[in-house]
Amino acid sequence: MLADYHVHTPLCKHAEGLPSEYVAQAIRKGLGEICFTDHVPAPSGYDAENRMRLAQFPEYRAMVRAAAPDGILVRFGIEADYAPAELKFLRRWLPEQDFDLVLGSVHFIGDWGFDNPLNLSVWNRVDVTQVWRDYFKLVMELADSRLFDALAHPDLPKKFGHRPPEALLREIVPPALDRLAAADMAIEVSTAGLRKPVNEIYPSSLILRLAREREIPVTLGSDAHSPEEVGFAFDRATALARECGYTEFATYCKRQRSPAPLA
Ligand code: ZN
Ligand code: FE
Ligand code: FE
Ligand code: ZN
Repeated sequence: MLADYHVHTPLCKHAEGLPSEYVAQAIRKGLGEICFTDHVPAPSGYDAENRMRLAQFPEYRAMVRAAAPDGILVRFGIEADYAPAELKFLRRWLPEQDFDLVLGSVHFIGDWGFDNPLNLSVWNRVDVTQVWRDYFKLVMELADSRLFDALAHPDLPKKFGHRPPEALLREIVPPALDRLAAADMAIEVSTAGLRKPVNEIYPSSLILRLAREREIPVTLGSDAHSPEEVGFAFDRATALARECGYTEFATYCKRQRSPAPLA
């Protein structure tokens, strides 16, 4: 049975539906597990419009804990944005919580939220290859921090279709994968990209093959922001993972990883 390890709650202000509805959809889809990974609070005010306040965190935990019927495992996780200015807070706060899974993600390069449609026009005045270099440099820092279990939507900068040629990707991406492997992290195979202009799973088959060569495990995630998105296109995620050489995916309990069969 598969596991959706990336779903949100309305506490992030841009998702809808009760956790119990996400769980019900997971059961309907035949999943064995679902892990809530709402956006991490940021007392600094970083990207405040897209996350719960720190004071809401107990409510988040209670909502997830309450949505645990028989027949499915409900895990408690977080999607923690890596940004240099957030590192001090994350270092102190993340280890104090009782998470099953900490997803790490990069949504900002400097003060540019590069995956936010409101900032799309910025892409017209940047050097796309340099954006990818900057993004994977942040991914390396994320890995080196040792604060995270898995990297969410690994090639997010392709969201609107901006991507350097393959020869450059083969130069830019492997050093970051090496650092993720050194940190014993997994990467997420995310079907969210299929709902975005790029219309492609994160990461691409090229990057997933490079990850497989390094024996980097994979988690599966829909990045659902509404209940009907839970388990979205998981047949395509598992097909891609198998094509790239994977036979297992990773599950987590109390931040300990266990393999499960993809078949
Ligand atoms: Zn979100
Ligand atoms: Fe994200
Ligand atoms: Fe997410
Ligand atoms: Zn996300």
